[in-house]
Amino acid sequence: MLSDRQITSRRLLLVAAGMSLLGAAAGCRSPWSGGGEVAAEAGVDESALPVAPPAPGALPATPPPAPSAAAPSVVPVHKVLTAAEAKPVYELDAERRVVALTIDDGPDPRHTPTVLALLQQYGIRATFFLIGENAVEHPALVREIADHGHHIANHTWTHPDLRHMSDAKVRDELERTSDLLHKTTGRLPTWFRAPGGDWSDASLKVAADLGMRNMAWSVDPRDWARPGTSVITDRILKDVRPGAIVLNHDGGGDRSQTVAALKTYLPVLIDSGYFFTAPPN
Ligand SMILES: [Zn+2]
Repeated sequence: MLSDRQITSRRLLLVAAGMSLLGAAAGCRSPWSGGGEVAAEAGVDESALPVAPPAPGALPATPPPAPSAAAPSVVPVHKVLTAAEAKPVYELDAERRVVALTIDDGPDPRHTPTVLALLQQYGIRATFFLIGENAVEHPALVREIADHGHHIANHTWTHPDLRHMSDAKVRDELERTSDLLHKTTGRLPTWFRAPGGDWSDASLKVAADLGMRNMAWSVDPRDWARPGTSVITDRILKDVRPGAIVLNHDGGGDRSQTVAALKTYLPVLIDSGYFFTAPPN
């Protein structure tokens, strides 16, 4: 019989082994490089790097930038996207046993800290699609997500249905959110997700103008409807396959079922040989 501690150590070893395998494949393509672009990190898939928890009591070699220093006075330069890159991405390369975990609608002080602790426990990098009006209320939480190494992404300012909005309103929703996340974390969002997955011609154009690609999903357990922890867990474990993009929520209501499901299904996926990925920061 393996003790709990041995099982945990085995999981950590598997995580570490997977990360070095992904990192060692020199010249490998990042799962996030659309349009045939090769990862710029000379073979190191930054998206697969572990979240490095700070050593207890250790001081960082260089102090983190103050929030004000993260707000440059120059206008940020947006990446120019190819036509292929501007289309929504529903799943990643199925040849690698990777899963992209995406957490939407936060930050929320009731659930986001627990989710962050869980992801740290398992060495998982995730993508957080943040809502601007939540992010502006909880800037410290936004910085905490970024400091943990997760990918910060844009999920509009007020979570509206973009299909029924004027082009100018759509631009305001996306631009305000990118500006805020940039000022708060020093990172300019490079990925966008339309609320409900309801992209529109206007949202695709504005996202491209702002240098953001569009991330959809392939696994939706409908956790926001609170169907019960076991239902959320079962739906994810049934539907996950290599390259899956999983949709979960840490904001927008009581997400305790989602948090409980994460506690159950993350170790199961790790034990089944899956590695987690998020776009490079
Ligand atoms: Zn949402």
